Amino acid sequence: MRPFEFHRAASIGEALDLLAQPGTHPLAGGTTIIDLMKLGVENPVALVDIGALPLGGIELTNDVLRIGALASNSAVAAERTVRSAFPAISEALLSGASGQIRNAASMAGNLLQRTRCAFFRSHDWPCNKRVAGSGCPAQEGANTHHAVLGTSEHCLAVNPSDVAVALLALDAVIAIRCHATAREVPLADFYRLPGITPHVETVMHPGELITHIDVPKSRLGPKSTYLKLRGRASYEFASASVAAAVFCETGLVAEVAVALGGLGTVPWRDREAEALLLGKPLTKETIAVFCRALLAPARPTEANRYKLDLASGAIHRALMRSAAC
Ligand SMILES: Cc1cc2nc3c(=O)[nH]c(=O)nc-3n(C[C@H](O)[C@H](O)[C@H](O)COP(=O)(O)OP(=O)(O)OC[C@H]3O[C@@H](n4cnc5c(N)ncnc54)[C@H](O)[C@@H]3O)c2cc1C
Repeated sequence: MRPFEFHRAASIGEALDLLAQPGTHPLAGGTTIIDLMKLGVENPVALVDIGALPLGGIELTNDVLRIGALASNSAVAAERTVRSAFPAISEALLSGASGQIRNAASMAGNLLQRTRCAFFRSHDWPCNKRVAGSGCPAQEGANTHHAVLGTSEHCLAVNPSDVAVALLALDAVIAIRCHATAREVPLADFYRLPGITPHVETVMHPGELITHIDVPKSRLGPKSTYLKLRGRASYEFASASVAAAVFCETGLVAEVAVALGGLGTVPWRDREAEALLLGKPLTKETIAVFCRALLAPARPTEANRYKLDLASGAIHRALMRSAAC
């Protein structure tokens, strides 16, 4: 690990002042950035511990669930209002990591965690995400766990966040501040496809701080569910995951949202594909049509083609589970 400066911010203003210095990154729970610094993948000039900032609240108002950037994954998952109004968020969080890690892990840190691609995390290999323009051995190498959606010839790395998938299905909005401005970005626009710049992963700029996440109340929220398929029952990232919510009237789909994890270079959703379900009954056939449209842009390798079947099965189960509740 390279030497770095360490600061502890006592206020949001102080944190933003410190973050305005080039190469300075926030430190929240530290469950992922410290690992990446030890691996030499992240080399910040300075870290600003933001743990003391008043950004840990979880509040449900008439219109919106507001989750502070520093709210821990455990606290959000356990919150009664989250479990009843947006169960997919709680289920997604509980499916991730371990109890100890979830206690330390923050919501913003979860959204900003980097990929688990083994080529990215090892200096034995080139990686366009780690060193722009150096190459992507995953294209021809071991890519069983890599992405099938949103890939480019420069990157196949999967976005690993579970809760981002639930938040995408629920139309969450990320609130971001820097020294001069505050802005809100729908989660649907937050992550960037790798294209020719895989090292640019989100729309955030240096010096910016996520302050909170807003999830609008909706009739889909209480019916939302999260299903995660993985190589072992716990403490494992998704091979394929689905956040789904469907609202039926007189047996026909009136509103639906489906987001995928474990398959995409970014959490994946396609509203045009969802529209194919509207006004239809939820049957094996209508869900199969939806899955075909949703997965049509997939570019699997021989080794990760299995993810398409996993996803289709998971989508079917998640939609049926949501419709039944
Ligand atoms: C063994 C292990 C297993 C895991 N399994 C899963 C899993 O199955 N599913 C899953 O979804 N996750 C999993 N995780 C990831 C875990 O959820 C994340 O490590 C955690 O959520 C990161 O939060 P943190 O507060 O510790 O972030 P930190 O490590 O403190 O920060 C992460 C990044 O976010 C930035 N950051 C933090 N807060 C802010 C902010 N407010 N504004 C701007 N930037 C900020 C930091 O600068 C850093 O770049 C796992 C992690 C480990 C170590």
